[in-house]
Amino acid sequence: MVRYFLLLTALLLGTSSTYAEPSRAQQLCPEIDASVADERARLLDFTCYIAIPKTSPHWKTLSTGELPDTLSWRSAQGEDLAFPQSEDYYWLRIDIHNGATTPGFWYLKLDYAPLDHVEFHLDAPSDHRVITTGDRMPFFSRGVDYRYYLLPVSLREGETAQVSIRLHSSGAVNLPIALVTPDELVSSSNKLTLTHGLFYGSLLIFSIFNLLLFVSSGTTYYFYNAFYMAGLGMFLFAMGGFAYQYLWPYNPDLANTAIPISMALCALSMNLFGRSFLDVLDRKTFTSRLLTIQSLAGVTLLFLAPYLSYTTAIKTIAPVALIVICNLFFIGIARWRQGLSHARWYVLSWSTMVLGTISYALAAFGYLPDFLTHEIVMQGAIGSQVVLLNYAMVQRWRELNLKLLEVECSAKQKLERQVNERTTQLRAAMHDLENANRQLEALSTRDELTGLYNRRYMDNRLIELAREAHRTGQPVAFVLVDADHFKTINDRFGHGFGDTCLKAIAQVLERNICRPRDVAVRYGGEEFALILPETDASGAQRVSDAVLDDIRSSPVTAPDGSRHQVTMSAGIAILSPGDTIAATFERADQALYRAKEGGRDRTEIDPAAVRLTDARSALV
Ligand code: GH3
Ligand code: MG
Ligand code: MG
Repeated sequence: MVRYFLLLTALLLGTSSTYAEPSRAQQLCPEIDASVADERARLLDFTCYIAIPKTSPHWKTLSTGELPDTLSWRSAQGEDLAFPQSEDYYWLRIDIHNGATTPGFWYLKLDYAPLDHVEFHLDAPSDHRVITTGDRMPFFSRGVDYRYYLLPVSLREGETAQVSIRLHSSGAVNLPIALVTPDELVSSSNKLTLTHGLFYGSLLIFSIFNLLLFVSSGTTYYFYNAFYMAGLGMFLFAMGGFAYQYLWPYNPDLANTAIPISMALCALSMNLFGRSFLDVLDRKTFTSRLLTIQSLAGVTLLFLAPYLSYTTAIKTIAPVALIVICNLFFIGIARWRQGLSHARWYVLSWSTMVLGTISYALAAFGYLPDFLTHEIVMQGAIGSQVVLLNYAMVQRWRELNLKLLEVECSAKQKLERQVNERTTQLRAAMHDLENANRQLEALSTRDELTGLYNRRYMDNRLIELAREAHRTGQPVAFVLVDADHFKTINDRFGHGFGDTCLKAIAQVLERNICRPRDVAVRYGGEEFALILPETDASGAQRVSDAVLDDIRSSPVTAPDGSRHQVTMSAGIAILSPGDTIAATFERADQALYRAKEGGRDRTEIDPAAVRLTDARSALV
C-alpha cells in the first residue's frame, strides 16, 4: 500500500523513475525454445532490455548491431517491463530458437496500444525484416489487423532468430510481451473479445438508458451519468487501442488526442454528476465552490486537450482527474454523514472506482507492470461502479417517491380535514337555514295574533283538499265561524280586550278539532274557519255546536274584572266532487249570514249540504 502511495505521488509530481529492478550488468539472455510452451510462458526470463537516455550519443541508433558492446543490457528476470514517461529509447532483445523437428510459427505480441514508435527487427536465417509501427502511424502499418502489436516469427526446425524491438513513446512505456502460437493468440483474443464486448456493450446500454431516463424525467444527473459512462467508455476504448483500430485507423493524431479528451470529459462529467446527485447545487459552501472550480477546470482542459502535446495533456489532466475522483469520494462521505442516505451507495461505487483508477493509472503510466491485468481490474471496478451508481440512482428515486407519497398523503389528510370542517360548517349553515325557513314558513302561514293558520295557508290547503275530494269522492266541510257583536266588545272594553277574546276563540277552535288533518284558520278580523276533510254536514254540525257551546261556556275576564261571555255564529257548507272552492265558500257564507239573521249563537247548514248528507245516508 505504501509502495502504491509513493508511486502515485511520483506520478502526480511527474518525476521519472523506473520500477524495474536493476539487474546484473552485461548479463546475456539465453535463447528461448519457442516450441516449448513452458519456456514461452517464461518469456521474460529470456528477454534483455536496455534504456538509452537522450543524453547518450546512441539515443537514436537504428539497429542493435550499431550499439556498442559497452552498453549494459539487462535481463528482465521474469518481471514485467514498465517505465514511467521519459525521453528514453528502449531496446528489447530476444533470441528465439525452434528446437522442434518441424517448422514452427509464432507471434511475438506486445499488448500495449498507446506506444508512439515501435520497431520490430527480425533477423532469421530465412527472414530479415523490419516492421515500423506505433500509434503515431496509420493503423495498417502494423501488418496484422490487431489492436496490439504483433510480429510474426516463422522458423524452420533448429533455426534461431534474433528479435530486437526498438521503442519510444511520449507517454509511459508498458511492455507486456508474450510469445504465442496462432492458436493461443486466437484463444486469448476470443476470451478478451467476450470480456470487452460485455464491458463496452453494458456501458453503452447504461449510457443510452440514462439518456432516455433524462429525456423522459428531465432529471439532470441521469444526463451527467450518461455523459460520464460514455466518456469513461471512450477513454478505455482509446487506451485499449480499439478506438484507433475501429474508429479512426487513418488518423493517428486523433487516436492520441482521444485519450486526453476523453479523460477530461470523464473528469468533467463525474464532477457534474456528483454535484447534482449529492445535492450540492444550491449550497453556498466550500464544497459547492470546490465543485464549481473542478467543473471549470474540466471544461478548460476539455478545450485545451486537442492543442496540448500528448505528454503535457496527460500530465495535466491525469492529476486533475485523480483529484476530482478523490474529492468526490470525500464529499460523498461528508454528504452521507449529513444524512443523505443515497450518498452511501455513491460512496460505495466511488470506492471501487478509486481503487480501480489508482491501480490502472499506476499501470498505464508505467509505475506498475502487467497493464493487461490492470485494464481488466479497471473494467471490473468500472463495471461494479456503474451497477452501484445505477443502484444509487434507483435508491434516490425511491426516496424521492417516498417523500412525494408522504407529501401527497399529508396533503390528502389536510384536504380531508378541510372538507370535513367545511361539511360541518355547511351542515350547521343548512340547519340554520332550515330553521329560518321553518320560521319564515310559519310566519307566512300563521296568524300573528292567534297562532292559527292564516288566509294564505287556507287558500293553498283548500286547493289540495279540492283535488283530493275530486279523486276520492270524500266531502270536505267548510265551517265559517264569526264572533257575534264583536264591534260592541271593542267599543266597550277596547281593542286589547277584543284581541284577548280573539285568542280565547282561537284556543276554543283548536281544542275542538280532533282529527290530525282538521285545520282552524283565522281568515279575517273576527272571522274564523274550520276546514274538516272527509267530514259531511252532520259531522261538521257536531264540531260547530261543540265550538259554540265551548265559547259560550268560557267567559273571558274583562279589564274591569267582569266575566264577559262571547258567542259565535257558524255557517256550514260541503265541498263535494265537481264543486268549486269559491262556490262552497259562498254557500258557507250565506249559511253564516242566515245564522246571524236567525238570532246569532247558532249554526246554519247550507241546504245543498243537507241534501248531500241525506243522499249519502240513504246510500249507506
Ligand atoms: P255581527 O258579526 O254579530 O253582525 O256584529 P259585529 O260587530 O261582529 O260585526 P262587524 O263585522 O260589523 O264588526 C267586526 C268588528 O270586529 C269590527 C272590528 O272593530 C272588529 N275587529 C276586526 N278585527 C279585529 C282585531 O284584530 N282585533 C279587535 N280587537 N277587533 C277587531
Ligand atoms: Mg264579521
Ligand atoms: Mg261579527
